[in-house]
Amino acid sequence: ESVPQKGFFGHPKGLFTLFFTEFWERFSYYGMRAILVFYMYYEVSQGGLGLDKTTALSIMSIYGSLVYMSGIIGGWFADRVFGTSKAVFYGGILIMLGHICLAIPGNVTLFFISMVLIVLGTGLLKPNVSSVVGEIYSEEDNRRDAGFSIFYMGINLGGFLSPLIVGSVMDYSFHLGFGIAAVGMFFGLLIFVFTKKKNLGLAGTIVHNPLSPAEKKKVYTIFGAAVVVLAILIGIAIPTGYLTFDSFIALVGILGILIPTAYFIVMYRSPKTTAVERSRIIAYIPLFIAAVMFWVIQEQGATILASYADTRTQLEFAGIEISPAWFQSLNSFFIIIFAPMFAWLWVKLGKRQPSVPQKFSLGLLFAGLSFLVILLPAYFGGADALVSPLWLVLSYFIVVLGELCLSPVGLSATTKLAPAAFSAQTMSLWFLSNAAAQAINAQLVKFYTPETEIMYFGIIGGASIVLSIILFTLAPKIQRFMKGVQ
Ligand code: GLN
Repeated sequence: ESVPQKGFFGHPKGLFTLFFTEFWERFSYYGMRAILVFYMYYEVSQGGLGLDKTTALSIMSIYGSLVYMSGIIGGWFADRVFGTSKAVFYGGILIMLGHICLAIPGNVTLFFISMVLIVLGTGLLKPNVSSVVGEIYSEEDNRRDAGFSIFYMGINLGGFLSPLIVGSVMDYSFHLGFGIAAVGMFFGLLIFVFTKKKNLGLAGTIVHNPLSPAEKKKVYTIFGAAVVVLAILIGIAIPTGYLTFDSFIALVGILGILIPTAYFIVMYRSPKTTAVERSRIIAYIPLFIAAVMFWVIQEQGATILASYADTRTQLEFAGIEISPAWFQSLNSFFIIIFAPMFAWLWVKLGKRQPSVPQKFSLGLLFAGLSFLVILLPAYFGGADALVSPLWLVLSYFIVVLGELCLSPVGLSATTKLAPAAFSAQTMSLWFLSNAAAQAINAQLVKFYTPETEIMYFGIIGGASIVLSIILFTLAPKIQRFMKGVQ
């Protein structure tokens, strides 16, 4: 294969397979998320589970956190046991089964089983399908960045279409909506299975750092023991009242902070890390913290703002009945529209473009502004009046300006700043900033009520802007610690 392939928009044919696999996976994920929050807190008479609303918002956040946390497990299995391609396949199967569980009506047990399946499935699929994108280009192929941009379009095309479709059937039946998500993942699996041999060749089939037989024995023993200990602990903790919903949320919150901290310490102290790489790790810490703050706000678009769309917004607009779930399409919609413009802008600015820390600072500024904008309707009209949906559209638009300064930049900065010995795990490390953010959100959402709305958006938005200013001041210093990484 010495001649570079050009089968898909001038890119290797493998990108077709990865693009549509991830398109359908995100289609099912974001379609499910768009209606799940309403499914949890709607009354049983409306087809929901009738959970308390704050609990529902906390579950959404914890669930989102675990989905990104499990990427560590998925990355590990791919690296050491079965390779990325199999990880994607097994992940897709688990995700599909998860959505099928939700499609079966009226059972809270199935609901929790489905969460476990989707957490593990996404952990296997999401970071690994992204890694294979990197694998289909040779080291010197300069189409790689463009390849990732096309791939990011696939993600957001799925995220844009599914809330519209799944949201439209929600009033008729939530379970039909979840069923559509399951069918979406099934299509993704079909595409992956039937085109991967021809399009991907060997990409994703190599196990980079396989366990030796001795290690295998050790790891499986530890795994087995851990599962048994965990089962016993849970068996004791539930009946004695130690493991409640609140303590579980607190536990995930602690893990959300602890796991990335451990990652940093291990990378910093590893003998395989050079002095230059150590300096880059120091530079990465403030960027990681900024990313956490950013995702705290961005991810509330699927929780607090979803409930805002449902209960605080006029849902009849220009004579059309709007589904509250449709607002979940806006983030992806604006990304599809503006991502090419930002890519163009950075190229156009060339050497005059903001540095990585400055772009992160801009990301936080826009995130903060998006929350300040959404406190205005309550400030002017009180918290009882229904507000125009255009306020939400504006808020989702502003946060996307920040996302485009921070998210693609962060992903590529992560791969450049990570020590070589840890390069395989960096995809998971970046997603941990989102996991930490949603773990924090599970606690934060408890402070939101219509009465505290102005303070809630004001304090969180204000905190982001203050961090943005601090980061901007520190930017030249951080840049020096980056040792030449642009
Ligand atoms: N919304 C994007 C996706 O689903 C990015 C999420 C993230 O970086 N945590 O891929």
